[in-house]
Amino acid sequence: DLAMYVAKRAGRRRYEFFTEAFDTDARDAELRRAVDNDELLLHYQPIVALDSGDIVAVEALVRWNHPERGLLMPGAFVELAEETGAVVPMGEWVLREACREAAVWRTTIPGTDELRVNVNLSPQQVMQADLVDVVDRILVETGFPAARLVLEITEGVALEPDEGVVTRLQALRERGINISVDDFGTGYSALSYLRRLPVGALKIDRSFITDIVDDPEARQVAEAVVRLGTAFRMYVVAEGIETAEQARMLADMGCVFGQGYYFHRPLEPGAVAGVLAPVVLS
Ligand code: C2E
Ligand code: MG
Ligand code: MG
Ligand code: MG
Repeated sequence: DLAMYVAKRAGRRRYEFFTEAFDTDARDAELRRAVDNDELLLHYQPIVALDSGDIVAVEALVRWNHPERGLLMPGAFVELAEETGAVVPMGEWVLREACREAAVWRTTIPGTDELRVNVNLSPQQVMQADLVDVVDRILVETGFPAARLVLEITEGVALEPDEGVVTRLQALRERGINISVDDFGTGYSALSYLRRLPVGALKIDRSFITDIVDDPEARQVAEAVVRLGTAFRMYVVAEGIETAEQARMLADMGCVFGQGYYFHRPLEPGAVAGVLAPVVLS
């Protein structure tokens, strides 16, 4: 009857809730162990000058080589890591590994003095009071120059920055680190924060690039971001470029930098030297 049905459903919901919570705890512990056990690795996707195709930067993208499930992409674990806080030790590992590997490229691959390395910072990391200390320590440890490091924050972080966030981002900027706003255009923010924060670059979200050829509105958003970047003297990077036509349209509207499968897929560390070797950077 109905009462039974309701009770059963409630019971099932409670059960689901507990399994979910248990699952979250177990997966959180698993990810924290993975950081310690060297199960994470980075792939690097080049960012190029749209006019020449020259590589100006590489973005570090985390992967998890899971002992049972194989190679996992960030979509499978970064959101949970953000919820549980495991993203903080994970992000510290990512920053250290990217700086370490890039410091090696600088000494072994000619012409890479100017190469920048982009690292994604999660909102949780930006909220940590000791973020600047952690970054300082890693730069000293690895010898990677602050001026070659780009930290990508999401528009959500920039949306309503509290004083701590503003102070930390300014401290990073004072060291010569460049702050880039990732997935730009997907938030609902007023633009005033762009003047309050020491932001040096905007990355146009892939969703606009995907539709740029067929959808006039997506094209207008891309154009608006390029104009905004010009007005604020920021670099603008279009992400997710998959076709020559998208690349051409972006170049025509004055976008200087791009990233996407059309140019390069994310590369294993061992393949990075191969694409960087012929590069001449100004
Ligand atoms: P993101 O920072 O916006 O990185 C770009 C994502 O788009 C990457 O996915 C990249 O492989 C993908 N991509 C690049 N070009 C193309 C293209 O032409 N077509 C398509 N369809 N996709 C393209 P990935 O590696 O799966 O990373 C997804 C997201 O996970 C990243 O988006 C970033 O938000 C997050 N993430 C990755 N690594 C880290 C990390 O170390 N820390 C944190 N906190 N987040 C990370
Ligand atoms: Mg990014
Ligand atoms: Mg992005
Ligand atoms: Mg994106």
